[in-house]
Amino acid sequence: MNKKIIAFNWKMKPQSLLQAQTLAHLTQTCADKNNNTEIIIFPPFIYLQNLKIKNWKLKIGAQNIFWANQGHYTGEISPKMLKNLGVEYVIIGHSERRRHLNETDEMINKKVLATLKTELKVILCVGEPLEIRKKGKKAVENFIKNQLEKDLKGIENLKSQIKNLMIAYEPIWAIGAGHSDTPKDAIEIINFIKNILKAKTYNLKLKILYGGSIDGKNIKNFVKYNEISGFLVGHASLNPKEIKTIIKSI
Ligand code: PEP
Repeated sequence: MNKKIIAFNWKMKPQSLLQAQTLAHLTQTCADKNNNTEIIIFPPFIYLQNLKIKNWKLKIGAQNIFWANQGHYTGEISPKMLKNLGVEYVIIGHSERRRHLNETDEMINKKVLATLKTELKVILCVGEPLEIRKKGKKAVENFIKNQLEKDLKGIENLKSQIKNLMIAYEPIWAIGAGHSDTPKDAIEIINFIKNILKAKTYNLKLKILYGGSIDGKNIKNFVKYNEISGFLVGHASLNPKEIKTIIKSI
């Protein structure tokens, strides 16, 4: 059985290094007891260096990245910097960055390509807003297809790196909402994503995660499905009780 992935996205939390270290230690302790999962924490950039601890089973990832390794780009972090620090994963195209920082599909595409070229693992987030969901399944599929076409333009030229690409299907209306999508609806979209990416990804078995209000209670409804390779978890990743239950449930 393939290991399920649990990606804990801390977003802009916690507020101090000490709190970050406590949270990382707790997550590492749970990760150590579980051989069925690959567990990754995504802390804010400023904590990465302190949380990259040798011999930890827990993997470390970044919540964002820039698309160039050189140049005058005040405030940005390059793929090479993250690679040199020992970071393994990067979240790209999270809906909060698309919304609050006006990240376009073109920018996301450049980030995906640069990150794959640097041999880091990419978790590309896609997902529809509520107004599209209300229009029905076809509208959702068109929305996701359009995102994937733009965000992944040119990946077919990086054949040897495609194994490092993962997609997180995150319906925007379920993020931070306290209610997830249903497993049935999520799986329909996950299968749709797999199908449309088949040719572009040389038939490789792409890992697709689900994200949107996953917690210690509802994860058991999703975990039994092989179509879902793992979970991108936001608010619950900061709560010790939730972390333990989520990891235990796999
Ligand atoms: C997310 O931020 O990617 C996310 C899924 O958040 P939450 O679990 O809080 O809905």
